[in-house]
Amino acid sequence: MVIFKSKQPPIDLSTELTDWDWLFDSSYSPINRFPANELAGFQNAITKERVSWAQVKEYSTYISTALVKKYGLKEGQTISLLSQNTVWYPVAMFSGLRVGAKISGASPAYNIEEMSFALKTADAKFLMTTPGSIEVAAASAQAVGLPQDRIFLLEDELPGYSTVQDLIEIGKSYGEKGQVPAFKLPPGKKNKDVCGFLSFSSGTTGLPKAVMISHQNVIAQCLQIQQITPETQKKVLACLPLFHITGLVHQMHLPILLNAEVIMLPHFTLESMLSAVVEYKLSELLLVPPILIRLVRDPMVDSYDLSHVTRFSSGAAPLSEEIIHLLQKKFPGRGFKQGYGMTESCSCITAHPPEKYDFKYAHSGGAIVASTEVKIIREDGSEAGYNEPGEVLARGPQVVMGYLNNPEATARTFDEDGWLHTGDQGRIDEEGMIYITDRIKELIKVKGIGVAPAELEDLLLGHEKVEDVAVMGVPDEYSGERPKAHVVLKPGVRADSAVGRELIAFVKERKVRYKWVKEIEFVEEIPKSPSGKILRRVLKERAGRGLVV
Ligand code: ATP
Ligand code: MG
Repeated sequence: MVIFKSKQPPIDLSTELTDWDWLFDSSYSPINRFPANELAGFQNAITKERVSWAQVKEYSTYISTALVKKYGLKEGQTISLLSQNTVWYPVAMFSGLRVGAKISGASPAYNIEEMSFALKTADAKFLMTTPGSIEVAAASAQAVGLPQDRIFLLEDELPGYSTVQDLIEIGKSYGEKGQVPAFKLPPGKKNKDVCGFLSFSSGTTGLPKAVMISHQNVIAQCLQIQQITPETQKKVLACLPLFHITGLVHQMHLPILLNAEVIMLPHFTLESMLSAVVEYKLSELLLVPPILIRLVRDPMVDSYDLSHVTRFSSGAAPLSEEIIHLLQKKFPGRGFKQGYGMTESCSCITAHPPEKYDFKYAHSGGAIVASTEVKIIREDGSEAGYNEPGEVLARGPQVVMGYLNNPEATARTFDEDGWLHTGDQGRIDEEGMIYITDRIKELIKVKGIGVAPAELEDLLLGHEKVEDVAVMGVPDEYSGERPKAHVVLKPGVRADSAVGRELIAFVKERKVRYKWVKEIEFVEEIPKSPSGKILRRVLKERAGRGLVV
């Protein structure tokens, strides 16, 4: 049996604590560890609106009391949050958690159909949103039969809608003794048995899946990451969306445990991010590949003094070789780290420990986090050793409960022995570092041999005429499948068959025969998810519209 184990000391699972008690009432709570004037909080980088942890606790108590007493919220019901980043998002989230509700984040980019699907899948009984999302919120609520008085505004005001401020006032009116007590785990249940969150996966491979995340999953993940986070981290930039698992863990839970101030960007723009980084002297930046790409390519970056940034961190999607190289060139001497994981592992399975914050390890997804095991499975089902690629399987307290109302998909992904089948291909080296090569499903089968699109994409991105590229398999009579590259050329380069032939030859000179790209299609853009994942199903739909060589 080859099971790779974490090198970190195991974490305390606090099995009897709910998420709320753990963060706001236990010995882990910063409220019990720091004097009131040293408590950090959530802060809006633009408006400067701020709530400290003590205020989060106070407001959440009032809001949850109002929801339970006036609106009949019950344990186990779902509250959906459809919102850009605001300090009231975590307040609303903790309000629900405090009384045993489930929280389901939705993307403000969803259209009415997608939002209706999210509300219906999560069986949401309440919806909290902002004026900017009200059209989608109202129409989707109507579509699933959610009454308007169950929609609340997190910020600002609109006629016909109650706000969280109204809820705070209602809660207060019950007096200190009238506050609903915090929810306790039912008899015989541990925090791993109770679902606190229904998070949607990104929808890269199909419709997003509602992932059931337990109170323990989040507690465990925070402790796993705390262990490998330097004490010096006193401020956290929250420029990634809060509804995604990365936001849930790294921008709303972990900072409370670390007592680190969260600097929130309501809308991401490169300019507002850079201004916040400079204004708040942020030293570590948790980003995703599309933002890192802009950091190395956009000339605007040069007018900001980023010398105080000591570390860049990337996750949620693959980062190309070329971008790592450009980052290192542009920001020499800085630390670099990655996290690898998925919604189904409540964020990280692996992440860089501080001694590996180095560009030398930049291509790696990190080392196995505490209390976690990994197996690499060959195609025949046997277990691979060091440096041999296969499907990554993970087991640990952050592996989630399953998919809501989808026992087939749950059984396929989470096996009886507790292993999460990630669907990703990777290998682990002797130092215990993981390298993710691609998604298994996206591997191109050339005469039965798997070719990773990411490898060919990395190579082609290094060509001087290529701006962006996505490689995928297309059916081939002779070899089963053959690699085809969809290429966006650099501005000023004309798409013609000569460039196509040049790119095909470029790959031929550098790769073994079965990896040769046989076809090039020139396209205007590569469709991507917000975290930078190539949406190959969209690409497939668009195939044949560009010049094919
Ligand atoms: P869906 O499951 O709905 O198709 P998704 O898998 O993209 O969408 P997420 O849970 O947000 O949804 O993303 C997890 C996936 O992201 C992983 O399975 C992996 O393929 C990719 N990923 C995450 N972190 C990294 C990383 N550091 N390097 C490479 N890939 C990563
Ligand atoms: Mg997935």
